[in-house]
Amino acid sequence: MEKVDVAVVGAGVVGLSVAAHSARPGRSLLLLERHESFGRETSSRNSEVIHAGIYYPKNSLKGRLCLEGNRLMYEICGRYGIPHKNTGKLVVAVTPEEEAQLPGLLDTALGNGAEGVRLVGPEEMRALEPRVVALAAMVCPTSGIVDSHALMRHFRALAANAGATEVYGVEVVSIEKIPRGYRIGVRERAGATFEFETSVLVNCAGLGAGEVAAMAGIDIDEAHYRIFYRKGMYFRVTRGLDHLPSMLVYPVPPTDATVGIHTCPDLGGGMRLGPHDSWVDSVDYAVPEELGDLFFSAVKPFLPTLERGDMQADMAGIQAKRFGPGEPSRDFVIRHEADRGLPGLINLVGIESPGLTSSPAIGKMVSGLVEDALSG
Ligand SMILES: Cc1cc2nc3c(=O)[nH]c(=O)nc-3n(C[C@H](O)[C@H](O)[C@H](O)COP(=O)(O)OP(=O)(O)OC[C@H]3O[C@@H](n4cnc5c(N)ncnc54)[C@H](O)[C@@H]3O)c2cc1C
Repeated sequence: MEKVDVAVVGAGVVGLSVAAHSARPGRSLLLLERHESFGRETSSRNSEVIHAGIYYPKNSLKGRLCLEGNRLMYEICGRYGIPHKNTGKLVVAVTPEEEAQLPGLLDTALGNGAEGVRLVGPEEMRALEPRVVALAAMVCPTSGIVDSHALMRHFRALAANAGATEVYGVEVVSIEKIPRGYRIGVRERAGATFEFETSVLVNCAGLGAGEVAAMAGIDIDEAHYRIFYRKGMYFRVTRGLDHLPSMLVYPVPPTDATVGIHTCPDLGGGMRLGPHDSWVDSVDYAVPEELGDLFFSAVKPFLPTLERGDMQADMAGIQAKRFGPGEPSRDFVIRHEADRGLPGLINLVGIESPGLTSSPAIGKMVSGLVEDALSG
């Protein structure tokens, strides 16, 4: 039976970054993906925002990895020519009630170490972004946008150069603990199955991460590894783009644990609005045209030139969350499961937003866990 040193499940931006950071000449590393190509799920269905790390609880993995990921992202993009733009971001208050929330948001952002964040009044805001109307705003200078496909291609190239092997159209369906590793059962698209052994297994399966952890014998309810699907839908602005802001513009976050419907300028000069979030039970990327009024009324207060007829339904993505409706938000899980009696198993669970921004930092962190697991 074939035996490898490291197997990574999932070729989204996280699995690709993990493979890029963990592959070494002389080490066998296999990256397994159920689709025929990389980045077919959440990593190609998001806002492509490089987040500044302003919303997350202090000392959370989300906050720390977002901040480090933000810095690494600009460094990598600059060095390797990955299309990106440091647009900056405004969190705008359009009512006195929202304005009163800005100092609290600023405190959280500063507590997280977000660089350069500050509050501005209407005049300075107009000078920064004349196409937005609001009473006041928080400015986040390190926010930006990135071409997520180009980033994934970059991680792929790094992984391949260091000797990693990608295998597509294969789904991991079973995991058995064996002395010094795991026996992995895999099903090909055509239905054929095969097995191989690995010393270290890294679970980067996104929406499937809970199922993969369960295959290894973890009680995913007790561990809070069960994945809940939160669908985020977008509308595209098809007209009047010249009158819309080039900065990212977000509302003061609503009370439903979302960041609210915001502008998502893209690198091609286009713009989406979103996401509007809802819990779903299964993967479904449909965006009903009837939601147009809701999108319009969410952004019209700060985008005065936008007309209802300027928008049409676009795309959707699904966040892999570790909590369901009404439950408190939970952090990323990135851990070596040796203390559960599963040495060599590294789980990444609930890698929702800011997972894209954090991906370079996650890859770095996990490569350390992989070294420990291989030497343990
Ligand atoms: C609407 C929305 C907006 C977002 N906006 C942003 C943003 O602006 N900025 C930001 O930083 N983050 C954002 N995110 C979050 C970001 O997109 C994710 O955190 C990131 O893409 C997660 O990457 P991943 O590799 O973990 O998951 P995925 O890209 O989903 O990759 C997981 C892969 O594992 C594969 N897989 C699963 N199970 C198996 C199995 N059993 N066998 C083999 N393969 C398997 C899947 O096919 C998939 O390709 C957003 C997410 C959404 C949904």
